[in-house]
Amino acid sequence: MSETKTRVPAVPGLFTLEPQVALVGSRCSDCGSYFFPREQVVCRNPRCRSSHLEACELSREGKLWSFTSSAYKPPPPFVAPEPFEPFALAAVELDREKLVVLGQVVRGVLPEALRVGMAMQLTTEVLDEDDSELRMVWKWAPVSVQPQSLGGAQ
Ligand SMILES: [Zn+2]
Repeated sequence: MSETKTRVPAVPGLFTLEPQVALVGSRCSDCGSYFFPREQVVCRNPRCRSSHLEACELSREGKLWSFTSSAYKPPPPFVAPEPFEPFALAAVELDREKLVVLGQVVRGVLPEALRVGMAMQLTTEVLDEDDSELRMVWKWAPVSVQPQSLGGAQ
């Protein structure tokens, strides 16, 4: 994999890669509620409805709230690396914001290795690439589990 290619988010606006990976959400400056994906118009707290929303980077750590496995390739617009490999899908409650954010678990960590309540951290993997760019996606990684090699991955 070339070191000279530019790393870019596969879905612009949902997360940033610099200086380190972080989900980009928003925070209501009137009631303190956090939102992800970013809310830009009006606070979704029905008792607030403020329009004072600021973009912010969310916690990179959280606890595993729930998870499932995805043994079949999801339909478009989902983009999956080929050949398709089963993966785990995690719902992680962010430490600071208490928001639950869905995301794939890193390659090589299947549901058998996951336990509700375990510490998770945000990371990235390459989705695909062209001549000049690596398109990145965010993933959840258990803090205490090493991914198993799937052969050739990474
Ligand atoms: Zn609010």
